[in-house]
Amino acid sequence: MKEENCIFCKIANGEIPAATLYEDDLFRVILDLGPASKGHALILPKNHFADLLALDEETSAKVLAVAAKVGAAMKKSLHCDGFNLVQNNGEAAGQTVFHFHMHIIPRYEGGPRMVSWEPG
Ligand code: 5GP
Ligand code: ZN
Repeated sequence: MKEENCIFCKIANGEIPAATLYEDDLFRVILDLGPASKGHALILPKNHFADLLALDEETSAKVLAVAAKVGAAMKKSLHCDGFNLVQNNGEAAGQTVFHFHMHIIPRYEGGPRMVSWEPG
């Protein structure tokens, strides 16, 4: 279930190299190219789903466990004090890459808080 010309299909499946923080049979977690904070990561399923509404059951059931694993690792290695999970669905919501992904954005005491989400 890959889509031609989908950049996140290519990254998730290793055809285009990206800084990988975690990988299993279903997901690859990479660093975001335009980070909102130090360590901003993206969870990418290896299969192509346009958005949350298109996810299959296995992927939707497992994605939060991956987020928790990466969030815990961020607290340990980056010493962040918290993190945001963000997941945009549809252009109106700020989605710019139409391959499902979940943002994990580390937050640091005294640093900027996420009071709004500005896409792009
Ligand atoms: P969206 O707005 O669709 O939720 O988020 C897309 C995210 O993907 C943005 O934060 C953007 O910086 C990131 N991004 C777009 N293209 C690439 C890429 O080729 N590599 C990586 N690592 N991140 C990307
Ligand atoms: Zn894709």
